[in-house]
Amino acid sequence: MENVIQFPFYVGPGPFDLGSGFSFRFADWAPDRTIPANNERYRDIPDCPRIHIIVKCRHGTEGVCGLDRGEIYRGMFGNLQWWTVDQEEPLSISPSVLCKDGCHGFIRDGKWVDA
Ligand SMILES: [Zn+2]
Repeated sequence: MENVIQFPFYVGPGPFDLGSGFSFRFADWAPDRTIPANNERYRDIPDCPRIHIIVKCRHGTEGVCGLDRGEIYRGMFGNLQWWTVDQEEPLSISPSVLCKDGCHGFIRDGKWVDA
């Protein structure tokens, strides 16, 4: 999980409890289009809710997982990794999630499942 978000985003809904000491928030891709430079730069890139999740592990470490919302958004966030959304609600993503401090598991049906 990458720790740095380099582009405009807004923290979305959450936190949602995943159990086992884990939780996450969504983040939305939503640049401020009232700023002319943003409006110009991101003209062809529509807003996208729920483009990231910020996962907090049982040790309190946070990391970001990109949720793959299509090619238009890939490459916009540095080396952010992208996960496939298998199910929106409750959230299931693949592949597994590896925390910086070594926590490894899956987010399945809105729950953390240790790998
Ligand atoms: Zn961890």
